[in-house]
Amino acid sequence: MIINRLILTLLLLISTALHAAERPALRAGAAAVDITPKEFPLNMPGGFSANVATSAHDPLHARAMVLNDGATMFAMVVVDNLGAAPEVLDEAKAIASERTGIPTDKMLICSTHTHTGPPSNAKTGPAPAVAYHKVFVDGVAESIIRAHAALRPAAVGAATHPLPEEVFNRRWYLKPGQMPLNPFGRLDKVKMNPGTSPDVLDHPAGPTDPDITIISVQDAKRKPLALFANYSLHYVGGVPRCPTALPGISTWRRSHRRHSSARASHARTRRNNQQKSALNIPFGIIRPPREPFEQIRIVAQNAADTAWYAHRKIEKHRADVRLGMIQRQVTLKYRRPTADQIAEAKAVLAVKDPAAIEKLPRLAQHYAHSTLAAAERPEETLTVKLQAIRIGDLAVCGIPFETFVETGLDLKKRSPFPQTMVIGLANGRLGYLPTPEQHQLGGYETWIGTNIVQEDTSVILTKNLLEMLGELKKME
Ligand SMILES: [Zn+2]
Repeated sequence: MIINRLILTLLLLISTALHAAERPALRAGAAAVDITPKEFPLNMPGGFSANVATSAHDPLHARAMVLNDGATMFAMVVVDNLGAAPEVLDEAKAIASERTGIPTDKMLICSTHTHTGPPSNAKTGPAPAVAYHKVFVDGVAESIIRAHAALRPAAVGAATHPLPEEVFNRRWYLKPGQMPLNPFGRLDKVKMNPGTSPDVLDHPAGPTDPDITIISVQDAKRKPLALFANYSLHYVGGVPRCPTALPGISTWRRSHRRHSSARASHARTRRNNQQKSALNIPFGIIRPPREPFEQIRIVAQNAADTAWYAHRKIEKHRADVRLGMIQRQVTLKYRRPTADQIAEAKAVLAVKDPAAIEKLPRLAQHYAHSTLAAAERPEETLTVKLQAIRIGDLAVCGIPFETFVETGLDLKKRSPFPQTMVIGLANGRLGYLPTPEQHQLGGYETWIGTNIVQEDTSVILTKNLLEMLGELKKME
């Protein structure tokens, strides 16, 4: 009897061991590689005019995390960049895949969207920019290679905590008579970054997503290995525009105050350019003046604190989670201007007299060029990569566009997973992704050139991602 029991126990142990062998415990590795440029001057893309850096204020990094459950291995990478192009990231993925064996379609690489970072795709032009292309590609690849080499037994957890104070929808309806002409000489229904004056602002044209979602990874001794956080906020801004002419802080403060009350000076345009795409603008509220870089530190601290609160909500880091990753290629139609739009663009570009150009709506000639470029583009379609990842009960969506809040909230709501993270600028930066409803309202993000693909793209991508999440959910 005792022997029988012993045999039974042994069998149970063997079957447990076999089961464990079928699904080995999670392994994870993480690495951060410095990708700060060494050669200057470098133009920092992200505005309508040059913004030249002659040195680096902060180090830039490629930060990678590799997870492996024995059946699926993938890498998630964040790089400090405005938004690296798909072909640049493909170069880095090819190098990393060669060295690690991780397939390139099991790599998600996204950008932080800093508007004060170097270009990443220069193959010709100024030597420092061309040199940086290699620093960037090698650094991103190296981050994956090092994270892979550091794989060790690990456990993961995920949680969400809100930080509503730092997000503001930047598209606004304005009071009657306040809407300026758009670059095409027409009136949009909403305006991007309309300033903070209560006399001008009516109400925002969309929601915000207050949540910070985190993935926390610990090693076998429960020591933190990696933390991946996601927040629906555009870049913060509040940095001096051009370090070559960095004004003293007091001068900058004074000029800031003066320019804020000026109606239309060159300096005011410069100040606005810093804030152009920022969603960390408290529309309708007056915020105390900040020194250069101060607001970035404040938001970073608040975001870090919120990530800490989220971390406290993780009851248990688990080593027995199921991983999955799906990449899909989706083909979209490029947006084409109508014959009337082409004729109007040609008429705008025919204006050569500087005084007459001054009288055109702001950025009219810029968008006339964009319109003609969209008309003359030889390709009819653009194929983009979509990714869906499963880490236990957490889902991650990767979209290679500047995604609208509505799309992120919609995916989170309709996802079959209890928690979903939506990452924009994943595996590329292919322009803005307004929803069809936001296209109807007009505004900067919807203008041809700023947006390059068919107007129902967000619907197509959401449908695909929900199917992919459904497939991942079925894995057991
Ligand atoms: Zn931006």
